[in-house]
Amino acid sequence: MGSSALSEAAKSIRDWSITEGRNPSKPANAADIFGTRVFGEKVQQERLSKTAYRALRATITRGEALDLPTADAVAAALMAWAVEHGATHYTHWFQPMTGITAEKHDSFLAPSADGTAISEFRGKELIKGEPDASSFPSGGMRSTFEARGYTAWDPTSPPWLHMHRNGVTLVIPTAFVSWTGEALDKKTPLLRSMEAVSKQAVRVLKLFGSTAERVFATCGPEQEYFLIDRNFYFARPDLINAGRTLFGAKPPKGQELEDQYFGTIPERVLACMAEAEEELFRVGVPVKTRHNEVAPSQYEIAPVFENANVAVDHQMMTMETLKRVAPRYGLECLLHEKPFAGVNGSGKHNNWSLSDEFGNNLLGPGATPHDNMQFLVFCAAVIRAVDRWQGVLRASIASAGNDHRLGANEAPPAILSIFLGDQLTDIFEQIEKGPAKSTKQGGTLDVGVSVLPKLPRDAGDRNRTSPFAFTGNKFEFRAVSSGQNISFPNTVLNAAMADALDSVAVELEAALAKGEELNKAVSKLLTKIIKEHKRIIFNGNGYSAEWAKEAGKRKLLNLKNTVDALPQLVTKEAVKLFDKYKILNEREMHARYEIFLENYNKTINIEGNLMVLMANRYILPAALDYQKQLAQSVSAVRSAGGSTVQAKKLLTGYTKLVDKLRVQTDLLAKVLDHSSSASAFAHAKYMRDKIVPAMENLRVTGDSIEELTPHGAWPLPTYREMLFVK
Ligand code: ADP
Ligand code: MG
Repeated sequence: MGSSALSEAAKSIRDWSITEGRNPSKPANAADIFGTRVFGEKVQQERLSKTAYRALRATITRGEALDLPTADAVAAALMAWAVEHGATHYTHWFQPMTGITAEKHDSFLAPSADGTAISEFRGKELIKGEPDASSFPSGGMRSTFEARGYTAWDPTSPPWLHMHRNGVTLVIPTAFVSWTGEALDKKTPLLRSMEAVSKQAVRVLKLFGSTAERVFATCGPEQEYFLIDRNFYFARPDLINAGRTLFGAKPPKGQELEDQYFGTIPERVLACMAEAEEELFRVGVPVKTRHNEVAPSQYEIAPVFENANVAVDHQMMTMETLKRVAPRYGLECLLHEKPFAGVNGSGKHNNWSLSDEFGNNLLGPGATPHDNMQFLVFCAAVIRAVDRWQGVLRASIASAGNDHRLGANEAPPAILSIFLGDQLTDIFEQIEKGPAKSTKQGGTLDVGVSVLPKLPRDAGDRNRTSPFAFTGNKFEFRAVSSGQNISFPNTVLNAAMADALDSVAVELEAALAKGEELNKAVSKLLTKIIKEHKRIIFNGNGYSAEWAKEAGKRKLLNLKNTVDALPQLVTKEAVKLFDKYKILNEREMHARYEIFLENYNKTINIEGNLMVLMANRYILPAALDYQKQLAQSVSAVRSAGGSTVQAKKLLTGYTKLVDKLRVQTDLLAKVLDHSSSASAFAHAKYMRDKIVPAMENLRVTGDSIEELTPHGAWPLPTYREMLFVK
């Protein structure tokens, strides 16, 4: 089995370039295709009356409410545009709490009295949809008898055309809310959080003389993912149903040579990336960067940053496009946080900043940050936000999948801390004692080769171990997981920042009202913030054991797993935070807590059951065959009069492992067979404390058996094949 997948994979590698993929002699010109399938600003201007266009832009840029006549005009133009491009259907596309996206397609056609059909799409249908989507998780917010859920158009994220083999669908990004107006999705709270942070940021900006009336949270997510040959994928029940391998011995070669990171991209993979990027370009996703990542067969794709709500939509489209395009090249895209034990997992670095309506980045330090008071205030607010709300931030990225990364000696630790870099750390150290007087400069870097240009040296080095790092002109939240919708972490970031900026505004406004000078008031405030929150700043090695100890001394939270982290969502303080800024009310917050717990419980339950299945129906039959073969070999050697010492040793050792596998499989099956009438939280604790350890034990035994079983007899593709045959 395993080896037949290998020969199929070899065939598909040989054949892909002949049968699959587009013609490489006609690469699309990126500038010509960008956004051609998007109902963006240019098309809006061309197709709408001046009045309708102005009204729509006022909604998009200033958040003004959209009236029905404008909606009707937009709907008519939108349909005409879509139908010209071949669209027959439209869909309200939304992001329910499942973490993936949902869509229900409706035809533009409406039957008319004379038996023909006419195309019809009105403003009403554009702005509001009513999918009968009662089966999505709502965390108790909807019982089926009050199951009405509505999708509401998000005019700030432009509609686009999804082209598939046999047609075209107009996709309208929407928010998904209940009959009572409560958020049933991930988009609504994000939009609310963007308004909240905008309001508080504008208040602070005013103090510095800015005329900006809106501030946008911006986001640029770097997506890591694996691509493996599909033949291997189909031969692994765990990859198909859990997205990660539940068994698999460590290969002789892993990532230790570091020959994968930024290495040459294999041709089939590059072709696949190029096609995915081309599709993304057409629907307006500004993808920019691609490269090999650290683990074998691991890659990264990153866009240019955008307003957070658009970035979130585009991120979902990126994941979906990678998944959809990969099979055309005989590949499967794995977005799980830890598809393979023993090699690096995947994350999603969430670059985040704030920008005013004129496009000024509020976290851009300029050449001399020490005298850039406005920058320092926003930067200090981030420090306060992350320190105060570290628990909720940690909870926003908690999942069964991310538990394999965070705090597991890899990627960012589970402890939230901020890396500021030398330059800013130095400035804030000055501020702690009084106003900052100087900025450390990087100078130039002499490479020592006369033909090479002198490079400007960054004032600080990078730090790859920090979960939350300042990287020049934005912060990078690195603990976000590869498979997750990035809405919630950004919602939490915005909420935390709204709170920090609010407190900053209150303090500065009070000082100014007392007649204090702005610069003095700011200096005082900065010193206060840094004294209060400096414990969250850490520039050292986040992976080290010393850091865990030191973080304990600083009383930073160390929430090692999902079950420890999730209750942070429903502390009195967290509930108050989200309620105060009208992002999520108490019911909505609790619903999310319940849904995340349920998701954890179901994930572990599926994985546990899959392991039992694989042990009983794949590993054990193969192991028993080989055991028999060993036993026969012992008696054959004995009848031939040879020494059976070594053969017997092998047989005894192997038999022990097979017995152990049996016992551990039964044990796992037994703990899985439990009733779950307890609360979701008690249930989650049970999953963590009983099921997860039983799975870990069974895996060790399964992997030891793999290491002793002949290759041809092994029923599953191995790590060595999946990661290196490409
Ligand atoms: P780095 O080398 O620090 O990773 P890059 O310039 O490669 O920086 O950017 C990484 C990601 O950060 C990209 O997706 C980029 O668009 C995003 N980014 C850059 N500036 C901002 C910003 N102001 N707000 C949000 N994201 C940003
Ligand atoms: Mg980066």
